[in-house]
Amino acid sequence: MSLDTQLEVSSATNTNRGWPGLIEAYRAYLPVTATTPVVTLHEGNTPLIPVPTISAEIGRGVKVYIKYDGLNPTGSFKDRGMTMAITKAREAGAKAVICASTGNTSAAAAAYALRAGMRSYVLIPDGYVALGKLGQALLYGAEVIAIKGNFDDALDIVRQMAVDYPVTLVNSVNPFRLEGQKTAAFELVDALGDAPDWLCIPVGNGGNITAYWMGFNQYKQHGKCQQLPKMMGFQAAGSAPLVSGIRVRNPETLATAIRIGNPVNWEKAIAAKDESGGEFNAVTDAEIIAAYRWLGSREGIFCEPASAASVAGLLKVKDRVPNNATVVCVLTGNGLKDPDTAIANSINPFKQGINADIDAVAAAMGF
Ligand SMILES: *Cc1c(COP(=O)(O)O)cnc(C)c1O
Repeated sequence: MSLDTQLEVSSATNTNRGWPGLIEAYRAYLPVTATTPVVTLHEGNTPLIPVPTISAEIGRGVKVYIKYDGLNPTGSFKDRGMTMAITKAREAGAKAVICASTGNTSAAAAAYALRAGMRSYVLIPDGYVALGKLGQALLYGAEVIAIKGNFDDALDIVRQMAVDYPVTLVNSVNPFRLEGQKTAAFELVDALGDAPDWLCIPVGNGGNITAYWMGFNQYKQHGKCQQLPKMMGFQAAGSAPLVSGIRVRNPETLATAIRIGNPVNWEKAIAAKDESGGEFNAVTDAEIIAAYRWLGSREGIFCEPASAASVAGLLKVKDRVPNNATVVCVLTGNGLKDPDTAIANSINPFKQGINADIDAVAAAMGF
């Protein structure tokens, strides 16, 4: 059976209404069989949004789009990887999963584990997880353990725990995570008719950039796209080991989702960059916040700070974008995850304590 026929059969036989989730949608490209017990929250199929103010800033016929993966069920692209990782864990009979997380992995692991009837254990760096993410993991029923250490310390512990105890590791060292995440590249090609010229993406552990590169290559092998994009990875300046080539012992950035000093997928991320003719660059926290505010106040798109690194990076290297290029910036997580950062960077002054009468309100409005 050809891949196209398989895809038609899978969509004709699915009993869900609307989008069936990415495993059903891209079943022919994923390591699943007819008997694999799919665990899904109907993730994927996220919007590709044109951003005219950013296109205009670059000029020269360049068209910029946002892949808004903050609209996944738990609010980040981690759902793409987790539907696969938890599905495969369930297929293997796992009873519990474990991960280290800067927040979004824990939210996704907790939600998907719950739907699979498994327990989830998450280790987070004490004080460095955005409030929304912590709230999610707790509400989904994860066992949340905050350690006095950073993400890299937490990962060392959970890797060893997965060896010593009956728990399956679902960090992006788990190959099924990348398999699920590569479907975002498929969606881009399906929407644009070909791969973009550039893909701009925030990089922490380097799993997502690796997964996109896998997806574009697989689609090209199947004749679904003619070209491959340059992979443009961006790290926060205080946490940029892939830019400097040196592990960072005490990474610091307000973009906590990419506050990682020793990326798990170091070699794979470098291979994606090199094979694609792309680049790694660093952006400062000030540049990240400027892009974050621009997206919110000029495009109506609310992302979390780490996500804005892709747009901050594009603006930083905008003179190198080829004329008439199509550029996609990945926004990896939803702004609602981190309301503290939004309020601290509000566009207009927040007028509080106004008397509840028309005159006082009109005065506050400047009439
Ligand atoms: C996990 C995460 C990243 C980093 O992705 P990697 O695969 O670790 O490179 C970026 N942004 C957000 C919002 C994330 O949750």
